[in-house]
Amino acid sequence: MKYIFGPVPSRRLGLSLGLDLIPFKTCSYNCVYCELGRTTHLTIERKPYVKAKEILDDLEAFFADKTHPPVDYITLGGSGEPTLNAELETIILGAKALKKAPVAVLTNASLIWQIEVQRALLAADAVLPSLDAVTEGIWKKVNRPHPLLKIQQIVEGLKDFRQAYSGEIWLEVLFVKGINDSKEEIERLKAEIEEINPERIQINTVVRPPAESGIAPLTESELNVIKGILGEKAEIIAHFKRHIDQQSSLEHLKEDILAMLKRRPCTLQDIAVALGVHMNGVVKMIDELQKQGEIDTYEHSGKRFFVVKSLSR
Ligand code: SF4
Repeated sequence: MKYIFGPVPSRRLGLSLGLDLIPFKTCSYNCVYCELGRTTHLTIERKPYVKAKEILDDLEAFFADKTHPPVDYITLGGSGEPTLNAELETIILGAKALKKAPVAVLTNASLIWQIEVQRALLAADAVLPSLDAVTEGIWKKVNRPHPLLKIQQIVEGLKDFRQAYSGEIWLEVLFVKGINDSKEEIERLKAEIEEINPERIQINTVVRPPAESGIAPLTESELNVIKGILGEKAEIIAHFKRHIDQQSSLEHLKEDILAMLKRRPCTLQDIAVALGVHMNGVVKMIDELQKQGEIDTYEHSGKRFFVVKSLSR
């Protein structure tokens, strides 16, 4: 199952089964806080980066195995922007047709002004878009978008989508110290968010090592002040959503992965499931271990395995 990760515990979605619709770091944004590092393919081109059939075959195989626990959500996201996949609607409808769990989409919302993207998202049970800033200069600083994108178009797209969509919208705002946390920007965000009218406003900050150095989080008390400004729908999700997890903190993740790979070669998914950590954290740590020359990788039966250097062939 190449396109499934988890199920993993998620603060926002309970036990979430992730579907990865996009190649690693193919995104319309290059956020300064991205825990996956810099975007390697900055694009707004929608195409079937991964075919719906391949993803849905994986999903069916997953549910055919009765040893898996029931999941709370099937979550479309992964290591890039999922709405870039032109077969998004087919994937959502196919996942829903299995009747195993509601379907949620994690999106940076950058393409939500496009009719086809809106139409695809209408099929989801919950849409979790991001909106970190509404002032053009600040948005460009924090999200470093594709040059053809416009923030006003995105904000209007979110409002239009709200009009058409009866499912849940949980809007995430991630604050970065000194970039999008001024009182003026928060007030502007508040005004636009009121018009977008999501069911929940989820406040976050930088909690994982970010793409860029010098990117700092807000403190809990600063987030609490923002929560007060954004009103009763607002909740703080920092320290939960993007953390590695309770069982395997970031400091221990490296040792845990090396210990696993000393026992046997594993795929990224094997590691994420066994350690109960988010796929994104595993990808990043594996990348570091490869750069440090501690592990090797090879392909077998169409799957990519990782192994510690001393065991590699
Ligand atoms: S945080 Fe999300 S939207 Fe931003 S660059 Fe990373 S994958 Fe893209």
